[in-house]
Amino acid sequence: AKAQGRNTYRYYMESLTRAANARLTLESKLRHALDNEEFIVYFQPQVSMSDERILGVEALVRWQDPQEGLVQPGRFIPLAEETRLIVPLGAWVLRQSCRQMRIWRDAGLPPMTLAVNLSIQQFAQRDLAVQVADILETFDLPSSCLELELTESMLMQNDAHGIDILNELQELGVGLAIDDFGTGYSSLAYLKRLPIDKLKIDKSFVDGIPTDRNDAEIATTIIAMAHNLKLSVLAEGVETPEQRAFLQDSGCDSYQGYLFSRPVPAESIEALFRRT
Ligand code: C2E
Ligand code: CA
Ligand code: CA
Ligand code: CA
Repeated sequence: AKAQGRNTYRYYMESLTRAANARLTLESKLRHALDNEEFIVYFQPQVSMSDERILGVEALVRWQDPQEGLVQPGRFIPLAEETRLIVPLGAWVLRQSCRQMRIWRDAGLPPMTLAVNLSIQQFAQRDLAVQVADILETFDLPSSCLELELTESMLMQNDAHGIDILNELQELGVGLAIDDFGTGYSSLAYLKRLPIDKLKIDKSFVDGIPTDRNDAEIATTIIAMAHNLKLSVLAEGVETPEQRAFLQDSGCDSYQGYLFSRPVPAESIEALFRRT
């Protein structure tokens, strides 16, 4: 029994070491990737519910790993957040997607907004609004064409610092959206005090529409509540015409999802405009 215990222990230590090594390898690969610009920004259109006009795009980062090919953010964003690499990575995404917006505007594409995800570590930076203003100026973009996506948990920290940053961003004139809405615990009373422009209904609710009564009910409630607060509402992860029809009937303003388009490389966005 003793020998078996030792074996179990050794096995346990070995697997711990393997996990720690894998993490270290991924972390150093991520650093390397940032230095070598191995990341690429994809864009997913956000369209109006009624006529599927492209209103904007959301920037979604991918990693072009020389060995593994295109790696989805779910596999590296969590570690980037733990290691704070998300701060330089997030800044790179913002700059890169603003550069792309400049290209689209110069090419004469109809005006649209650019939505960019912010992580909590970026949001904690005292000079965030100044950084954002700098990038907009670099690419000669109006602040109104940029929308930053925050999560409920970032807002529920409820500290003076967070509110200051939100107010500075609002004064700058960029739009503010709450991502994955419905999955956190933000209260209506609290939301009302924040300078937010848009709620994005989380995909987990959209998935159940129209058959799951609870999901459908939650979605219609969020839409009604948002409109009472004068916020616009976008539904995430719309995949079927039935979901779209239900959300449109419920008064939802816009959507994002595979039904219209998956996230695509920048070059494909122009073709999507021509299609509509
Ligand atoms: P998110 O911000 O909620 O982005 C929406 C995700 O849903 C994207 O996954 C998108 O591809 C996916 N999606 C959109 N429509 C549909 C649909 O109809 N069906 C399905 N099944 N999925 C759909 P993606 O690109 O893998 O990104 C995952 C998450 O990674 C994002 O979730 C966001 O939290 C994070 N992320 C991506 N890029 C960045 C970034 O630049 N900065 C930060 N901080 N996070 C990012
Ligand atoms: Ca998002
Ligand atoms: Ca989301
Ligand atoms: Ca999500």
